[in-house]
Amino acid sequence: MGKITGEYLTFNDVVIVPGYSRVEPSNVDITGKASKRVILPIPMLSSPMDTVTEHRMAIILARFGALGVIHRNMSIDEQVEEVWRVKKANPSLWAELPRVDSPEALEDLLLRLEELGSQAAIVFHGGAPVGVYLALGADPDYWAGKANALVTLLSSVNPAPVTDELGRLMVGAAISPFDHERAVRLEKAGADLLVVDVAHLHNENAVTALKKLSSKISVDLVAGNIGTREAALDLLSRIENIAGLRVGISSGSICSTGEVAGAAVPTLQAVLNTVEALKELGLHGKVPVIADGGIRTPGDAAKAIIAGASSVMVGRFLAGSEEAPGAKVRVGGKVYKAYRGMGSRGARERRYALDRYSKPSKAIEEGVEGLVPYTGSALVKIMEMATGLQAALGYAGASSIEEAWAKGRLARITPIGSREVSPHDVLLG
Ligand code: 5GP
Repeated sequence: MGKITGEYLTFNDVVIVPGYSRVEPSNVDITGKASKRVILPIPMLSSPMDTVTEHRMAIILARFGALGVIHRNMSIDEQVEEVWRVKKANPSLWAELPRVDSPEALEDLLLRLEELGSQAAIVFHGGAPVGVYLALGADPDYWAGKANALVTLLSSVNPAPVTDELGRLMVGAAISPFDHERAVRLEKAGADLLVVDVAHLHNENAVTALKKLSSKISVDLVAGNIGTREAALDLLSRIENIAGLRVGISSGSICSTGEVAGAAVPTLQAVLNTVEALKELGLHGKVPVIADGGIRTPGDAAKAIIAGASSVMVGRFLAGSEEAPGAKVRVGGKVYKAYRGMGSRGARERRYALDRYSKPSKAIEEGVEGLVPYTGSALVKIMEMATGLQAALGYAGASSIEEAWAKGRLARITPIGSREVSPHDVLLG
């Protein structure tokens, strides 16, 4: 007979306990890791989903210090081509972005942005880049007014491109444990990180296949998704060269696994469970944990980090960006982009998603399809994550991710309290 084995915590159940801080938020170093060798100035990866990450998203993320993981809902040739496109891209932060040579020249730029076809620009002063201008907008007229504009000072974020030893942008690619040819070809094409992309890796066939695959590649391999301490212990003891763990089951915004199959390890709990296993093995910090699913805000990302994660993976957070695949759609005067789970009907209709959620034994859909508001250039969200994480870790009294692990504290809050600490009792415009 089964039994109740414990209680699982979600992001909404906890708050960050403010701690004494010696540093200003803008000096907090948020450098994290995707894997043993992939270090990220902004500890964020984009989900390998066909409405989130192809080369355009991967390029802008890597230019500014984060990492894109190319989805695998396409042929091997197509995925290899996507990796090449990132590898061939100009790694400079400023490539392709219009520039203005003084903050005062911004007014002019605002009027020209539509013509330039860009929602972001780099602001130079005295010859040096000092800020990034971002046009914010779910509104199609986003370029029309200053009210929609935001300038983020680069000095506070200090973005730096994530590059390989040849100076090319880094990129990750999603793989299946069963498709060894794909993994080998992606490594050859220059992928810097192979990310296992199955909903529940802790399965005999999948682990056995992954063990075989791991002996054929030498690039960093991230295994997942898992959620329990036992899964982490098992994987790390059976497969030698695991360079990172992708954790969280059923927390994704487009995920319906928890609803249709009743199974879940919410992302915060998955981090806590995995970190427990890593600590037992003396590997915490050595094998990075990527918290994946349900991260809506930099605050959620900071909670995952305080729980022991080294980086976060986001789908919805970036899905409304210009650089996400897919066209903008207009509904009732507002602009949206499509966002769908990789186990949704639409994604499963594309042949290559079949082995993730729909093996013959899995005839159910485990994801939904929807729309998210258009948010302009992905830079808006990259900067939001960077500055938000700095603020959140600043509250925790930490000046780095390692310090957040050592000093950071989370406290449980009641469900009623969780409403009180979000905007409430006002009409939000
Ligand atoms: P989000 O950031 O949108 O909350 O979550 C994104 C994550 O959801 C992905 O990185 C992936 O782990 C997970 N995911 C993507 N598609 C599906 C799906 O169709 N079903 C389930 N169960 N999870 C999904």
